[in-house]
Amino acid sequence: MKTLLKQKAGSAPFISSAVTALLLSAARLKGPEGIILFDRFLPGLGWLQIFLITVYAGTVANLLITKPNSRPIRLAIWCIFSIVFFSQLLAGIFISDIFLMSGKLHIPVPALIIAGPFYRNSSFFMPVLFLSTIILTGSGWCSYLCYFGGWDGIATTAKKSVQFPKKRWKLIRYIIFLLVISTALLFRFINIPPEKAALFGIAFGIAGILIMLFISRRNGFMAHCSYYCPIGILSNFLGKISPFRIKIDSDCSNCMGCSNICKYDALSVKDLKSGRAGFNCTLCGDCISSCSSNLIYYKFLKLSPESSRYLFIILISAVHASFLGIARI
Ligand code: SF4
Ligand code: SF4
Ligand code: SF4
Repeated sequence: MKTLLKQKAGSAPFISSAVTALLLSAARLKGPEGIILFDRFLPGLGWLQIFLITVYAGTVANLLITKPNSRPIRLAIWCIFSIVFFSQLLAGIFISDIFLMSGKLHIPVPALIIAGPFYRNSSFFMPVLFLSTIILTGSGWCSYLCYFGGWDGIATTAKKSVQFPKKRWKLIRYIIFLLVISTALLFRFINIPPEKAALFGIAFGIAGILIMLFISRRNGFMAHCSYYCPIGILSNFLGKISPFRIKIDSDCSNCMGCSNICKYDALSVKDLKSGRAGFNCTLCGDCISSCSSNLIYYKFLKLSPESSRYLFIILISAVHASFLGIARI
């Protein structure tokens, strides 16, 4: 049995690389011209970029599977993605628009993924991309794939112990979500010009950064992602479409060891007793190694916990690496 599991773990990086190669090749052959950045410098060079990214995907999958504590790896790759994304944006503004997806600038604030289409009644590319990843990897968007959330994750590392918010906080995220949607609709119906609407988007993003700096950093939990960003709530809600879950065995002693690791406030006593992670869970996997008795684990339909974890790592590494290859403003 152990040998079989080892074989599965050993093949996961290759499968992840193969899935990445498929996704990026499809994007290059069927997507818009120049979707792979290297092709813009020399036609055909995109294949080299695809090769490098498939190697990266395999490396990420291997590290996530083999390292006992995957949190530092996850935060590192999440930030690499963010740095590449924002570097391309800066290069697009200050050096050449070759680094931009379409030559047109957008505000890189995740809330606009949903507010933008409500305001413009168009631009559904990002919501469709978001939904596709949700189907593949559940709420993993908010722990591996978003260009913004990694900074909230880094902010939480300043504090070792976690101080979770009071219960009433939980209401705040629903109120913010409704406010963002209704403001976008109001702006559309009273014809607020795009330049003015953009200022609200920027102000929302700046307020989010302040939350990371002053709440996440001081309290050690993902205040921005778990209680402010409207995409977070959408990802938690729609993520339930995917069969991936974090389950807790009935033998759990409620020692709270895993609760102190979870930065998303998804492992309260109530959650532990219910046998599954709470609504806020983003499938980050940080809690898995914290239980020495292996009583908390990934579950995908009838697959065993180990196979479920390998499947999740294969998919999330492939989608993460593919995003690294194509995501830019
Ligand atoms: S909650 Fe928002 S900022 Fe955080 S990871 Fe999700 S989409 Fe990104
Ligand atoms: S660390 Fe293990 S035993 Fe302790 S609360 Fe978590 S799942 Fe239960
Ligand atoms: S319950 Fe586990 S997998 Fe879910 S968010 Fe918390 S640490 Fe991550």
